[in-house]
Amino acid sequence: MTPLKIGATIGILGGGQLGRMLGLAGAQLGFDIHIFEPEPDCPAGRVAARCVTAPWDDRAALADFAAQVDVITFEFENVPLESLAFLAALKPLRPGTQSLTLTKDRLIEKQFINSLGIATAPFVAVDGPDDLRPALAALGPNGILKTRQLGYDGKGQMRVTPNADIGGLATLLADQVWIYEGLVDFEREVSVILARSLTGEIVHFDVTENVHQRGILNTSRVPAAISSDLSERAKTHAATLAVQMEHVGVMAVEFFLTRDGSLLVNEIAPRVHNSGHWTQDGCHICQFQQHMRAVAGWPLGDATRHAPAIVMTNLIGEDVNLSSDTLAQEGVFVHLYGKREARAGRKMGHINTVIDTPHK
Ligand code: AMP
Repeated sequence: MTPLKIGATIGILGGGQLGRMLGLAGAQLGFDIHIFEPEPDCPAGRVAARCVTAPWDDRAALADFAAQVDVITFEFENVPLESLAFLAALKPLRPGTQSLTLTKDRLIEKQFINSLGIATAPFVAVDGPDDLRPALAALGPNGILKTRQLGYDGKGQMRVTPNADIGGLATLLADQVWIYEGLVDFEREVSVILARSLTGEIVHFDVTENVHQRGILNTSRVPAAISSDLSERAKTHAATLAVQMEHVGVMAVEFFLTRDGSLLVNEIAPRVHNSGHWTQDGCHICQFQQHMRAVAGWPLGDATRHAPAIVMTNLIGEDVNLSSDTLAQEGVFVHLYGKREARAGRKMGHINTVIDTPHK
């Protein structure tokens, strides 16, 4: 439980943009950062003191990585659990394997959330083609099939509509296990980002309002246009989940707010989250620094928002080629991830725009 000393080394599993921004925040606090990532030339590796490029199941590389760091964290929830357990036996892993076990499989995650009396969209397990018709009979013909594992940014999802070709859909389900989720007619999507320290202290950021397009986050706005009562309920749910997960570090809980005022949890991300990027330019301490503080066993920082209102806009694919007008615009903060190729649908960066008055 001894806090890490300045100059200690933090290892991050995963070398994408979240690892890069965690690394930069860690460096600001005086830590050295090592990255472990299977893909060469990754965004995080280019701002780190060391980057190990090896597959997740390379035990020798994992052991060598662990030997050279003081504590390990992750930016990516698809690290195989066996690799995490192997590392956790060698060095402190924060958050621990439990945070991942409870969130990496959508069925386990939703059952865990419901077991705490917190609502989700209705769902049923679909273990293969034969389960599709009973699932549609139970929840109706409007819904979404989601793979239980490895889905993100709308990947691994298939929308089901009343006139869908059920036979054709069923044949696509053979290779893996799925859940079928009833479609939620939501009014808004919001998320709560919080940090939980090694001693169990919890600090929330302001509730964020999110707009997705084709399953990918497009914008996040703060303050969210919801009542303070709803905002407190969302924060309380997120804190309950964090405590039950014994989570250490930052995590995000995404919610649907339905037209009748119910809050349904969509998913938990046991890590820093895209809908928390606004904190970099809107708060005294951002989500990345907050995570590094928690992982280091340090006290959490002041998460108060100082910007009257702020909008984060993701730069997807060619959006990264910003005009000089945008680059020079007052109140605009640019964050680019250094990815070499601007492929369609790929998150290349984001801009945070500070505005004077909250939106309606
Ligand atoms: P997910 O990857 O599950 O977070 O889904 C990405 C986005 O798809 C969500 O943020 C929603 O905008 C939409 N979505 C996912 N599940 C549902 C649902 N059951 N009902 C309505 N929209 C959904």
